[in-house]
Amino acid sequence: MPINVLVTGAAGKMGRAVVKAVTEADGMRVVAAVDPGYADSNPPTDAGTLAGVGEIGVSIDSNLVAALRRAGPDVTVDFTRPNVVMGNLRKVLAEGAAAVVGTTGLSEADLAELERLCDDNDTSCFVAPNFAIGAVLMMQFAQTAARFMPDVEIIEMHHNQKLDAPSGTALRTAELAAAARIGASTDRTEKETLQGARGGDLEGIKIHSVRLPGFVASQAVIFGGQGQTLTIRHDTLDRSSFMPGVVLAIRNVQSLPGLTVGLEKLML
Ligand code: NAP
Repeated sequence: MPINVLVTGAAGKMGRAVVKAVTEADGMRVVAAVDPGYADSNPPTDAGTLAGVGEIGVSIDSNLVAALRRAGPDVTVDFTRPNVVMGNLRKVLAEGAAAVVGTTGLSEADLAELERLCDDNDTSCFVAPNFAIGAVLMMQFAQTAARFMPDVEIIEMHHNQKLDAPSGTALRTAELAAAARIGASTDRTEKETLQGARGGDLEGIKIHSVRLPGFVASQAVIFGGQGQTLTIRHDTLDRSSFMPGVVLAIRNVQSLPGLTVGLEKLML
């Protein structure tokens, strides 16, 4: 039996790519697509046609609960907005569907709530701040490098429509590097003549966020050592880069108990 998938944010940039990827992948199909803003302001639209993959017989819907009950998906995929994702997931998990989540901006408290919701409803949830396999490798290499070169800063670069800063990937990279490093030289006093010039700070690791048209998602992790620097950089050139990771998560989420965070859990 194919895995039946409901896509939330189906008219968005990532949602359209997900509709296309699921339609083209073996063993899964889109059974419902939800995007209230789009559905309420457009004539009935086929999600496949909008995604450029041809008609799939699934109209973009405005009501998530009605779509969940009508289509009975095995898995939902959420690429929406930081301020709506938790509301969507409460509905999805309460209906017993498994969830794959790419929307960024989830807090530790949100993740704890998702874990509880999975337990209460005997279902599962997979969250990844970055579904690009190269970005996951960048984070793993950065974690290794931080053990030997503990002085590190991160520059992340995204398109100017991105709503949250810093990126989920930058936060995750900083967390991994902070946990791995020993003995960084952070004990100096600095004066910012322009507030914010030194970026955000996660456990002593500075994060700088660039927002410009032209970028999709890029990140450089820069390590400084005696007489040398090391830069580990990843560039997402196209949103299709996220799709092998999303399809992998859709295939696996139902067999993972509770909450799982990070694509590396499926790769390494
Ligand atoms: P986008 O183009 O703005 O798409 C988001 C879509 O969700 C919009 O069509 C939006 O409609 C819709 N939406 C809003 N509220 C909704 C709701 N309650 N239910 C269903 N749909 C709703 O943004 P995007 O570039 O696709 O990015 C979406 C999210 O994915 C962002 O948080 C981004 O940071 C994240 N992202 C994650 C990864 C990863 O690998 N994890 C990669 C890329 C992006 P309106 O425009 O009407 O609000």
